[in-house]
Amino acid sequence: MNDFRADLHSHTIFSDGSDSPEKLIDLASMKGLKGLSITDHDTTKAYERAFRYASEKKFPLVSGVEFSAYFRQESIHILCYAFPLNSRPIQALCEKHILRRKERNQKILEKLKRLNIDIDEKDIPQTTLEGVIGRPHIAIALIKKGVVATMRDAFQKYLGEGKAAYEEGEKISVEETLQYIKEGKGKAVIAHPQLIIRKRLLKDLLEMPFDGVEGYYANIPFQEDEIFIKKAKEKGWLITGGSDYHGSIKPNIQLGSSWVNEETFNKLYNHFLSVSEKG
Ligand code: AMP
Ligand code: ZN
Ligand code: FE
Ligand code: FE
Repeated sequence: MNDFRADLHSHTIFSDGSDSPEKLIDLASMKGLKGLSITDHDTTKAYERAFRYASEKKFPLVSGVEFSAYFRQESIHILCYAFPLNSRPIQALCEKHILRRKERNQKILEKLKRLNIDIDEKDIPQTTLEGVIGRPHIAIALIKKGVVATMRDAFQKYLGEGKAAYEEGEKISVEETLQYIKEGKGKAVIAHPQLIIRKRLLKDLLEMPFDGVEGYYANIPFQEDEIFIKKAKEKGWLITGGSDYHGSIKPNIQLGSSWVNEETFNKLYNHFLSVSEKG
């Protein structure tokens, strides 16, 4: 029996995960995973360290990033895989997101200030100097200040979509994101379609030029009869999967709780090797 499992969705200290790239690779190896993709939010900064360590340990790693995008006022996540690490379009999109997040985080802090909650930039835990700062980091600052008790409270009261201190920031569309990914030679995958509540929107996304859907996600059981699985099969798309592991920031999600088999992993891995060689 082939026990190959690869987790294609994970976060490190370079976005809102709690593990370093090295610790994540060790954990993957310990859990018997045979492949991994690190998909930090809007950044590939973990990869310099990750690839150095992965090649020392001979652990197969495929490039990845989880882009934040907008489609009809709805926030959508797009996983991008197997692009060459020096891909200019992918790096340009990451740079665009750095600016978006900087402005957005400032606006969130301003909204909190207006609610008499004084969070200074220095209160926000920065795990790495080059890392992306997102709402979970602001949530941790709110917990530390004693404003809320839990991450869940922070999102429910302040940071979740439509809540008192919610701020969207510049909206980078799904269409634009897909263009960057194509030009950057990556594979574009609809992240966690299970979480998209508006079915009409999902239906329309499935007609866009993606290369796959994340059919296996976190602790959610796989459903063969989901519309996104049927569509993916019809179109010959990849059906990818991963845990969305964030370490202690989302303690109920274990690395490897969702995964892909060797065939799917190799499709991405081979694409990654071929575009990387060509430079
Ligand atoms: P951002 O990239 O700044 O928009 O933040 C997105 C991150 O916040 C993702 O890791 C989400 O899983 C996390 N997140 C979104 N909503 C919630 C929630 N209600 N509770 C906990 N984490 C959340
Ligand atoms: Zn996250
Ligand atoms: Fe996501
Ligand atoms: Fe994620």
